[in-house]
Amino acid sequence: MDRSTELINHPYRAPDAFEAAMPGIHKASTVLFPTVADMRSRQWTDKSAYTYGLHGTPTTFTLEERLATLEGGRYCVLVPSGLAAIALVDLAFLQPADEVLLPDNAYGPGRDFLCVEMARWGVKTQVYDALNPADLALKISDHTRLVWLEAAGSITLEFPDVPACVAVINAANAKRPSGARQILSALDNTWGAGIAFQPFDMGVDISMHALTKYPSGGGDVLMGSVVTRDPALHETLQMCHMRLGLAVGANDAELVLRSLPTAHLRYARQDAVTRRLAEWALTRPEFSHVLHPALSESPGHAVWARDCTGAACLFTVVFQPRYSQAQVDAFCDRLQLFGIGYSWAGPQSLVVPYQLPESRARLWPHGCGVVRFAIGLADAQDLQNDLAQSLDAL
Ligand SMILES: *Cc1c(COP(=O)(O)O)cnc(C)c1O
Repeated sequence: MDRSTELINHPYRAPDAFEAAMPGIHKASTVLFPTVADMRSRQWTDKSAYTYGLHGTPTTFTLEERLATLEGGRYCVLVPSGLAAIALVDLAFLQPADEVLLPDNAYGPGRDFLCVEMARWGVKTQVYDALNPADLALKISDHTRLVWLEAAGSITLEFPDVPACVAVINAANAKRPSGARQILSALDNTWGAGIAFQPFDMGVDISMHALTKYPSGGGDVLMGSVVTRDPALHETLQMCHMRLGLAVGANDAELVLRSLPTAHLRYARQDAVTRRLAEWALTRPEFSHVLHPALSESPGHAVWARDCTGAACLFTVVFQPRYSQAQVDAFCDRLQLFGIGYSWAGPQSLVVPYQLPESRARLWPHGCGVVRFAIGLADAQDLQNDLAQSLDAL
């Protein structure tokens, strides 16, 4: 044989008995079968064998199992971003004439996916008051198929009563004729990360998670997951996922596998520093509100205290109305230790000024001057000093 052939069809096989603390990384589009009969009979859906890179490798199977454990679920599918995880849930379970209920403080790009893309396929989206389960009950109709939950809400971090919302959904399902499609609940669990609270113990059907945040922890990977306890829901997700061709790369899966063992440590550390800074922010006269579920003035605080053992690394401030948007922007620009950029839960602290629509005014009617901080892994006093120097310059 020519050496070029030999290099491809090489006879050496490393011995199987290799054990290391970290799992090996397997990369494949093609998976090889010893015989045609084996190729025809292989099953991948129960993780008992491999058929094609898109259907899973030892690396993705391992990451899926660990993420299902993290969130207290049984099954997991991996997708290339958190937003793709939201889209997968919508695509797997919705059909024309279905209605979706979305909290008024939901992650914006997920709302846009429903209101722009799914709307083209005849799916109707309605918004409910995230803090009012009675409003959710009022908006459920015979066409409702899916209710999204988000704890805490995007940017403004209101904490919803998830068990009360699930009770509303269960009551509506109990009234449906037997054989009718049931209303599913799906929670965006990125904030809790499987650490601050246990969504499946609260009766949620589906948990989606932007692994881009804590499970990556590095600010360098985009990935998402959808976890369930119910085998029939998982099968629907798994088949839709396969037909859409949503694979994740082995190198990215490796980075998440590597970061996952420190997720609880990072969560606790970032939680402690974030709370300290949020409490300090309360003492500053420049802000009219400081939003963090552990602060008693923050909407949903009592529910958070009842249901959670921790909080994510986010807090939001609302500047007094005397500050213009230009001053607020200049405050962000002057920060030295906070990068201006989206996402969170990496080592780098981040800041983003937002302009919220009127519909999200709640406690803070003066619209502009809303700034969200994502606290990274830097020293708390250094971060506080940086915030103080930029406030003082106002
Ligand atoms: C970041 C985020 C997403 C989307 O994740 P990407 O990986 O950036 O697509 C969804 N929901 C929440 C709450 C997030 O913070």
